[in-house]
Amino acid sequence: MIGAVLLFTLTYVLLSASLERRDRESLEQRLVQLAANYETLGLSGLKKALSVETRLRRSSPFFVRIAASGNLLVFREIPDQWSEFDLTPLEQPASTPPVPLFRLASPDGDQHLEVVATRLSDGTVLQVGKSTEDRDEFLALFVRAVAGAALPLAILGLVGSAFLGMRSLRPIRSLVETVRAIDSGAMATRVPAREAGDELNELALSFNRMLDRIASLIKGMREALDNVAHDLRTPISRIKGVAELALASNASPAACRDALADCLEETEQLRRMLDTLMDISEAETGTLKLHLGSVNVSDILATTGELYRYAAEEKATEISVAADDRLVIWADRCRIRQVVANLLDNAVKYTPGGGHIDIRASRKDGFVVISVTDNGVGIEPDELPRIWDRLYRADRSRSQRGLGLGLSLVKAVVEAHHGKVEAVSAPGSGSRFTITLPAADSA
Ligand code: ADP
Repeated sequence: MIGAVLLFTLTYVLLSASLERRDRESLEQRLVQLAANYETLGLSGLKKALSVETRLRRSSPFFVRIAASGNLLVFREIPDQWSEFDLTPLEQPASTPPVPLFRLASPDGDQHLEVVATRLSDGTVLQVGKSTEDRDEFLALFVRAVAGAALPLAILGLVGSAFLGMRSLRPIRSLVETVRAIDSGAMATRVPAREAGDELNELALSFNRMLDRIASLIKGMREALDNVAHDLRTPISRIKGVAELALASNASPAACRDALADCLEETEQLRRMLDTLMDISEAETGTLKLHLGSVNVSDILATTGELYRYAAEEKATEISVAADDRLVIWADRCRIRQVVANLLDNAVKYTPGGGHIDIRASRKDGFVVISVTDNGVGIEPDELPRIWDRLYRADRSRSQRGLGLGLSLVKAVVEAHHGKVEAVSAPGSGSRFTITLPAADSA
């Protein structure tokens, strides 16, 4: 609307200036023509020509005034429609040459008589004038036409933009309402879905997705906190029990030392548990510091296999390692070793005597796939999805040592390396844990 007003004003100013220039030109032409007539025909010839013209009304009317030296009126012709003009100012020297244009206001001030003048060869002053009436009327008509068209357009524009504004802000309003509702405690509130596939709808969907993710993180944290609280209680109670027993009885220094050693062991377990929990949280949130470098997978498998060989042999379990020598990944060597060690530790733990553990690594479509297979106790199908949860331990493994954090750490570290983990298992026949990591050349 501001643009339209500016455009209209500019048009008005240009139009008015151009009409004024045209009037001025026609005045000057008429002056030149009448002066020439006077010079050739004399005053009487000029008067005759003017009266013929007035009768025939061939051209637009002009005001004509001729004054002898001293500005004494000799002849005057003024069209009837301009008769209300008070012409006395024309008797002033201010209206005679060299003044280029003299303006005379009508009594009501609505219009002006514009007068140009020239001095003829005999000293006579010839004044020719024209009213601005036509010009003013034309400009007034122009203003009326533009205003007549602009007013409905302006109303339509205002109503239309208010309507569109309200419509397009509706999703923002529902977003604001959702945020307010969440702020006042209604955590399950979501932004209502709309059909439109525009950016605001995308924003609402992303916002809902973000809320879902936050809700699941909060739920996960709450569960983890419950589990931690629960799992801390047992070792702390044990420490307390051992210490109380040592204090209450009249125990010998040796028995007290044993109690202290027990306490130390429990404390060490607690510390390990808290460290592992911290590592898992950091790996999951992406804040775990990874010292990346190229890591030869067969080296890791061989050294870790060797590390567990003794523990396996004690249970008459065999470990076999088969890995291509050229398998290289871009990873944190210590963390990957920890991952393989956790899998191998579980395999040895959950495989009864006389079993077999097979560690393999191969390359598949730009990825290195490492698998640890055992023929141990296996995992129940309903427990399988939960083994990756923090502090989860299947019922049948309660008899074994463990914190229920090994696989959570495996998953978090592998995913921090942009890899994935998988487990397949059949109760009684064994399990296979597979980790897939990007190969160094494609990582
Ligand atoms: P834990 O300290 O109990 O071994 P993990 O997180 O390493 O904790 O494993 C979680 C659970 O997954 C274990 O308690 C066990 O029930 C099951 N599990 C893991 N590895 C094996 C396996 N190789 N064979 C059978 N069960 C397994």
